[in-house]
Amino acid sequence: MLNIVLFGPPGAGKGTQSEKIIEKYDLNHISTGDLFRKHMGEGTSLGRMAQEYIDEGNLVPDELVIKMVEVKIKSHHSPKGFIFDGFPRTVAQAIALDAMLKKQGLSITTMLALEVEDEELRSRIRLRGKTSGRADDQNDERINNRIETYKRETLPVADYYTAQSKYHGINGTGSIDQIFNDICMVIDLKK
Ligand code: AMP
Repeated sequence: MLNIVLFGPPGAGKGTQSEKIIEKYDLNHISTGDLFRKHMGEGTSLGRMAQEYIDEGNLVPDELVIKMVEVKIKSHHSPKGFIFDGFPRTVAQAIALDAMLKKQGLSITTMLALEVEDEELRSRIRLRGKTSGRADDQNDERINNRIETYKRETLPVADYYTAQSKYHGINGTGSIDQIFNDICMVIDLKK
């Protein structure tokens, strides 16, 4: 059983690397950003509640995120494990995730943190904005807000996993395959 937190700032490549990790290790993907976009697309009440936070590049309140993940974990119990992509983004979410997993006799195996410089993040997000259709990818003020929000609210999550000796930094610049290779080396040691 392999339960991975894929961590990193917006634009670090979490979505791209998740797809490759899932394919190789057959894990269940829980991307809170994708789940919110699905809810917004379907116009559910959760989607309507989350929309204004997301469009401005702010975090959705913890209780909404945690409830949504809990439903997913319960309904998709997989023998191989989960990859959490874009979650947890606050220490409160990390604590809640540990508690949810513990109820099922599970725990986080490792955190893989993609490390990329701010300027590179901005240019990747602007480029993605040309095709993603995402409001939060398309405006410099919102992009900067997402990066600042990451530093202020999300970076402490790295300390939380460091304290459990689960943090692994990965250089997130270079070719997609090179980064994936570095990720696999860590995962294969933990399997
Ligand atoms: P992402 O696709 O992971 O970049 O997420 C897009 C947006 O969804 C973020 O900027 C937040 O507004 C919201 N979001 C996604 N995951 C979370 C989370 N774990 N906690 C709070 N907000 C989130």
